Amino acid sequence: MKKSVVPRGKHFTFLVLPDGARPVLRFRVHAILLVLLPIIFVALMAIASTLYMLHDHARGQLDQLHSKLSTANETYSKQLAMKEGTIKQLQVELAQLAQQAESVEMRIEELNKLESDVKSLVGIPEEETGPAEPSEDGVGGEYVAIQDDELEELAHNTSTVLNSLDGEITDLKERLTSTKELAQKRLQTLRVTPTYWPTQSQRITSFFGVRMDPFSGEPGIHKGIDIAGHMGDPVFAAADGRVSDTGTMSERGNYVVVTHAMGLTTRYFHLSRIEVKTGDRIHQGVVIGKVGSSGRSTGPHLHFEVMKRGESVDPRPYLKMAIKGNSADVQVEKRQD
Ligand SMILES: [Zn+2]
Repeated sequence: MKKSVVPRGKHFTFLVLPDGARPVLRFRVHAILLVLLPIIFVALMAIASTLYMLHDHARGQLDQLHSKLSTANETYSKQLAMKEGTIKQLQVELAQLAQQAESVEMRIEELNKLESDVKSLVGIPEEETGPAEPSEDGVGGEYVAIQDDELEELAHNTSTVLNSLDGEITDLKERLTSTKELAQKRLQTLRVTPTYWPTQSQRITSFFGVRMDPFSGEPGIHKGIDIAGHMGDPVFAAADGRVSDTGTMSERGNYVVVTHAMGLTTRYFHLSRIEVKTGDRIHQGVVIGKVGSSGRSTGPHLHFEVMKRGESVDPRPYLKMAIKGNSADVQVEKRQD
């Protein structure tokens, strides 16, 4: 049988002998402690070493986690900043879209106004009065930042406005097409009706109807209107038509008769010169002769007559139908009577 290294129940005594007269120190230690101490030391070292390694490892992992967290934070911050930027941009675009919708609405109002002007110009009656005129004059006021809920409302309203604008534009297109057709018909009617002022001068010197005759001084019927003019001023055709008669007569002087649509005829008397011949097809506004004082006349003027199915009628209601402001085709009507 093997003998134990540590004798059972044995003790060791250690003496410390200090210098001088100080007393001797004695340490009595059990033998087993001498064996256990190195083992405990080694075990403690092992534990300490393991703990250190574990701590070191954990620290490494912690550093890694910190680093990852930091990277993730950075990424999220960037993404957040980008998203905030995008949201701001969208807010700006939404506000611009709302403004554009408003601007389109104004443009539609302007088009409505234009349509109304065109109708008024060619004498087409309005079906109903349009909304108030738009205005793009000065703007201003205090700046108040828009809130999220207001943005939602703005987005909703803008969407509604855009939908309604789509419908309005479709309606407007149909209306404008219809107005264009009406205007074309109306212009065509005006072209074949004696609405064009037949002279440069628009001063009437004698009206249609009963008057005192300038030669006899007796009451008589004046079948047209007399318009003042200078010798040689151009005389224009009051409507599209065909020259049905020209010639010279003692009372009419040099004259031209033009036949138009709808049973209408115009007659131009006292001319100094005739510029057309019987059978000519002529357009409204062309020169058919020159102002003169031929025939039964007291001075240069144009005697202008409109006949409807052979009966003389007052020319003024026809001349009043002329389009206002269209100097290219039809003279501006400036009445003095
Ligand atoms: Zn006359």
